[in-house]
Amino acid sequence: MLQAHTCTITFVHHNQAVKPVLPWLSCLLLLSACSPSPPEVHESRFMMGTLVEFTVYGVPRTEATAAIRAAANAMQEATDSLTIYGDVGNTVKGFNASRPGTPVQLPAAVSSLLMQAKAVERQSHGAFSPTLGSLSLLWGFSTPKPPSRPPTDEDIRQALAGIGPELLRRLTTPAHTWVRLHEQTRLDFGGIGKGYAIDIGIAILRKRGIEHALINAGGDMRAIGRHGERPWHIGIRHPRQAGAVLATLNLEGDVSVVTSGDYERFFIYHGRRYHHILNPENGRPADKSQSVTVIAENATLADAWSTALFVLGPKGLELLKKRHIDALIVDAGGDIHTTPGMKKWLK
Ligand code: AMP
Ligand code: MG
Repeated sequence: MLQAHTCTITFVHHNQAVKPVLPWLSCLLLLSACSPSPPEVHESRFMMGTLVEFTVYGVPRTEATAAIRAAANAMQEATDSLTIYGDVGNTVKGFNASRPGTPVQLPAAVSSLLMQAKAVERQSHGAFSPTLGSLSLLWGFSTPKPPSRPPTDEDIRQALAGIGPELLRRLTTPAHTWVRLHEQTRLDFGGIGKGYAIDIGIAILRKRGIEHALINAGGDMRAIGRHGERPWHIGIRHPRQAGAVLATLNLEGDVSVVTSGDYERFFIYHGRRYHHILNPENGRPADKSQSVTVIAENATLADAWSTALFVLGPKGLELLKKRHIDALIVDAGGDIHTTPGMKKWLK
């Protein structure tokens, strides 16, 4: 994140020093930093394993800070209700530990998120799957002590047996009741939960009358309104040049941008990169992309699709036709592919 005078210019993966790829881009940033703009309130909180930055524009400071606090608390609560890691107790963990075939009632919000996750699972032909919890736990990328070597083929084979839409069933009564049908079927909201929390944060800000805001959770974000006199300027991180910006986006109105990258959580073993986005077909890190940025009407959808498209690679762009979703994919070789609609967002 760069902050100059009262202007904020937000970059994906703000925790790196930002070094624009093109020299003219830095001039552009400087120019926009010098124009006068009304006050803004900026606060950060560490949650979901990243620094979440809130920028609120156009309301008095006390109102803004109270709204940010409420939004952050709700986001933390949502995250705690979904996580399958750490000491927090929640129904998702309870579900994952339930005896296969036993109905478990989930909180209404979790159940509805699961329906959305299953919709993307269906639309992406299984590239995105909320049932790959056993596989995620096996690889262990989200545990406090990151892994240093891949699991065995046999362990992967066992975890794969739990993945698939048919292994997770919803009962119509009682409401929000789900059954897992295989011992290895475990929920994982890791690919959609951050976007969901961002949407909750924005809903709270709006409820408090805020019309111009940005919530940026480590590069995954939703922007509403405008940044004063101009749109919000968002940088997409270059997947292979730390600190470099691949492209800059102009956002205004209500737009969500989420990026999935193989640089976020990974280890190198025998010279090969192993990262946290897994292909449900073979149980291994997906190998078609370096990074995928998705622009959608809400962050939940953008998050799920960024993970799905990461697995599918450029051929997955076909699936976005008629969905009002745009995407930019850096493929495994470093080439860029976009939906036709991506042009209108690029600065
Ligand atoms: P993201 O960074 O949004 O792409 O999400 C990655 C996280 O989602 C991982 O840490 C896993 O918890 C989970 N995940 C990995 N692969 C998949 C997949 N193919 N479908 C759904 N969730 C996944
Ligand atoms: Mg995702």
